[in-house]
Amino acid sequence: MTTVKQPGDIREVAVIGLGLMGSGIAELIARSGRRVDAIEINQSFLDQGMARLRASLDKAVSRGKLTDAARDEILARIRPSDDVAAGVAGADLVIEAIPERIELKRTLFAQLDEACRADAILATNTSSLSVTEIAGGTRYPARVAGLHFFNPAPVMKLVEVISTVLTPPEIAQTLALLSRDLGKTPVKVDDRAGFIVNALLVPYLNHAIRLLETAQASREDIDKAMTVGLGLPMGPLTLLDLIGLDTDLAVLETLQDAFGGTRYRPAPLLRKLNDARLFGRKTGRGFYDYQRQSASADGDQAPVPAEVAVIPDPDGRLDELVSQITAAGISVVSQPSDRTGLVIVAADPKHRVLDAALAAGHPADVVGIHFVAAGNGKAGLAEIVLPDVTAANTSAKGAALAARIGLNAVISRDRPGFLVEALAYAQFNDAVRMFQDGYAGPADIDTAMMLGCGYPRGPLQMLDEAGAGNVIAVLEAMHAATGDPAFTPVPLLAEYATAGKLFRAGAEG
Ligand code: NAD
Repeated sequence: MTTVKQPGDIREVAVIGLGLMGSGIAELIARSGRRVDAIEINQSFLDQGMARLRASLDKAVSRGKLTDAARDEILARIRPSDDVAAGVAGADLVIEAIPERIELKRTLFAQLDEACRADAILATNTSSLSVTEIAGGTRYPARVAGLHFFNPAPVMKLVEVISTVLTPPEIAQTLALLSRDLGKTPVKVDDRAGFIVNALLVPYLNHAIRLLETAQASREDIDKAMTVGLGLPMGPLTLLDLIGLDTDLAVLETLQDAFGGTRYRPAPLLRKLNDARLFGRKTGRGFYDYQRQSASADGDQAPVPAEVAVIPDPDGRLDELVSQITAAGISVVSQPSDRTGLVIVAADPKHRVLDAALAAGHPADVVGIHFVAAGNGKAGLAEIVLPDVTAANTSAKGAALAARIGLNAVISRDRPGFLVEALAYAQFNDAVRMFQDGYAGPADIDTAMMLGCGYPRGPLQMLDEAGAGNVIAVLEAMHAATGDPAFTPVPLLAEYATAGKLFRAGAEG
């Protein structure tokens, strides 16, 4: 029976692979006062890795966050080596951070079998490979677990601690305690493709690509919808360019192999950009072009109409808009006439705007407007929704009006969910499925997305705020419009809606 080792029992840690992740992990562990064996494949990579680590510490010194003496002490605790066997011999814990290729990892772990102490814990920092498969090739698979840090490791607070079916709970517990001791927040997950963060993030990013390729909105508006409308630090297409479209495709394919279905099927545009080797920032171009200054998105300017018809909405969703338009000196009527330049109806993400546009009698001049509250005291987002019967210049008139009255607006085609709810609610549904399948609890799911992706609140907290019934209605409309089974509300979501139960009952904030 294994006992739970306390963080104080882990005094010597070997980090293998001093690339982007390994150098950060080695720095983090040496800063905690532990001895680190920093291991690379040859002297030249070792020099590069140590130079990266030193540069990171020097930056902390230049910012006044570390003294010269403290930096020197941290460096003195790190023992660089290009000899794996010698480097790991005394380690209590080994953390592997070599490239994401199963054959490389399996070869290394077989080598560790011989070289490590019998009671050493072996952890892999893999983002998407099966920890079980890595463990399976070793003589003592029970001591192998996942310890998934996020980039940059010294800064990002989340660590996913991954157990296989063979990992005794004591090992996961030791790694979770160690993570806390390193100043991180651990979430414990079973070995399943994508763990928590990538399993929720990557299909959402794929969905955003589908919206772009089906011309639901421009890349800028898709990104703006999620930063302004949901409060995320970065829009999905900008984030994809940062992660790298090649890395993203590899993770998506792993998820597709593991789970099948339509949600993980790579969007054709993602494959095309990969074929063209447009991988994002690292190659200078992905969804955005980083070599050329992109032209301003508001190309087709239109004059602000002198008269706007706002079709009365019994729920009062457009009352404030009417005041704003009137205050801008534009005439507002409730019935369109030949003088009317633009007709506005209240748009509901559960229904298409088309029917209201036809009922208004001037379908070519109609836009729907849907307001998304931003929360956190910031101005919300206005989704300007264009039914397919709308005339070509109506979109520009809507945008001109929004600019005149100071709305933060995006333009979306008339498809259920529009932009914010389509992307967000499909992801919330995935989060409920993860919980339903017994894979992770609501608090861990929310923590992982907040600390791993900078969400202002976790997806299940946001689902509770939106109301399970609302989320279901939008998902059902998306399913009816697209036929895509991925949008079917998962059974547990329907149960919670019926029972009026919250996923994060009692969660603070
Ligand atoms: P990287 O290519 O920057 O670094 C890998 C390093 O491992 C290289 O310096 C290489 O020389 C070295 N190496 C290769 N084979 C070795 C061996 N047998 N022994 C010792 N060293 C060896 O890669 P990275 O981005 O740091 O990723 C490392 C791991 O961390 C991967 O499993 C990756 O999926 C995972 N990860 C990456 C990120 C990220 O944002 N890049 C985030 C979380 C996890």
